[in-house]
Amino acid sequence: MKIYNTMTKQKEDFVPLVPNEVRMYVCGPTVYNFFHIGNARTFIVFDTIRRYLEYKGYKVDFVQNFTDIDDKMIKRANEENTTVEELGDRFISEYYKDADGLNIERATKNPRATEFMNDIISFVKDLIDKGYAYEVDGDVYFNTKNFQEYGKLSGQNLDDLQAGARISVDERKADPMDFAIWKKQKHGEPAWQSPWGMGRPGWHIECSCMVHKLLGETIDIHAGGMDLVFPHHENEIAQSEARNGKPFAKYWMHSAYLNVNNQKMSKSLNNFITAREALTKYNPDVIRLFMLSGHYRAQLNYSLELLDSAKASLDRLYNSVGNLESLLNEVKVEKLQEVEHEVISNLKGYKDEYIEKMDDDFNTADAISVIFDLVRDVNSNINVSSSKELVEYALNLIRELGRPLGILQQSTKTDLESEIEALIEQRQMARKNKDWALSDKIRDDLKARGIILEDTPQGVRWKKA
Ligand code: AMP
Ligand code: ZN
Repeated sequence: MKIYNTMTKQKEDFVPLVPNEVRMYVCGPTVYNFFHIGNARTFIVFDTIRRYLEYKGYKVDFVQNFTDIDDKMIKRANEENTTVEELGDRFISEYYKDADGLNIERATKNPRATEFMNDIISFVKDLIDKGYAYEVDGDVYFNTKNFQEYGKLSGQNLDDLQAGARISVDERKADPMDFAIWKKQKHGEPAWQSPWGMGRPGWHIECSCMVHKLLGETIDIHAGGMDLVFPHHENEIAQSEARNGKPFAKYWMHSAYLNVNNQKMSKSLNNFITAREALTKYNPDVIRLFMLSGHYRAQLNYSLELLDSAKASLDRLYNSVGNLESLLNEVKVEKLQEVEHEVISNLKGYKDEYIEKMDDDFNTADAISVIFDLVRDVNSNINVSSSKELVEYALNLIRELGRPLGILQQSTKTDLESEIEALIEQRQMARKNKDWALSDKIRDDLKARGIILEDTPQGVRWKKA
């Protein structure tokens, strides 16, 4: 399996630090608002990557944090006349609603920065002790000059960065590229007691600290949106490697933006739609299919036409799933027939191809094309004279290849169909327990509703009278 590593700017073989295990950290949202579908792209991409790693048999320890203290949190809490803590509680719970709605699997852990204050303070202290950070009047800055490799992720060297720094020169910093890892409390701001007085952590140090606490000194994959390469991840590397003296992450992965008219979707440009709003119009499979229809490192343009076209594509896939589900109730032959061996072997070929695409730096766009090829083949080669074994194989395969993408897991059955099947199941149980009265009652009740049960050698079938 190959993964594109932002650090080396090439695809590399994926070899985790511990065989069969993956330690993965994704920078999560600042919880001051509902998240938009630009953020959702990043969450869906890394959820898919995590699902695929699990599909391949890795045990994945997947951590995604919540940033629950920063300028935006403080501003919003003030505007709403509430506390930063209450705001965080509220939008973390809203995050789960939308993420669940998008079929994003729950992380192994979702740490909140404010729960790690003691660890953050000792991290800052260690950096000062090792000469990588200095205090100025209650603020603590990281000393970028002392970290020789500063700039290695974004491919910039410190001299260029300094020359290009359009950062207003802060007299207090030894160097314009130095960044705050601890911020002195300003009037009215929430703050924690520290050796440098009341204050709060900088954004970058939170992640460095939570990665270390929850996953260790060196992890397999560190990920986030493209906008995090610099300065956020560059600074995380500087802090973590300066403190631990070990490489921070083996693979750095970054997903490209979701754009609107070729501009990044963002809260500040006010060109966003929230995930919640999108979910009122489209089902999660549609949104995921749209997001995964491009490669994760290529920018993707948002438009209603593209979402509608994803919906039409998805209907084609679910039609096929629905047909197979109906066929299970209609076919007459149980076991695989001689002529079907070739059909099965062709279907297996699609699985191999799908794995080849996904193994190549998670090429979901091509993997989705393979699913369409598979469905086309299934539609033309499987019908009412096929065996139940073949129908089941095809159905399971389509669902299996959908699972890492978080699509094609929904039932195509109507509520009535599901209800009838549950009743048939109950009747089978009653028969097994020799409760003939109950079994007859279920059959008679269904008959009264116009549903006829037939006991056949292949099991119970039903039809409308
Ligand atoms: P934020 O809440 O702004 O810190 O963002 C949370 C995550 O969403 C980060 O990994 C960002 O890189 C990512 N993100 C923000 N905007 C976009 C966008 N338009 N497209 C893709 N990812 C984004
Ligand atoms: Zn981070």
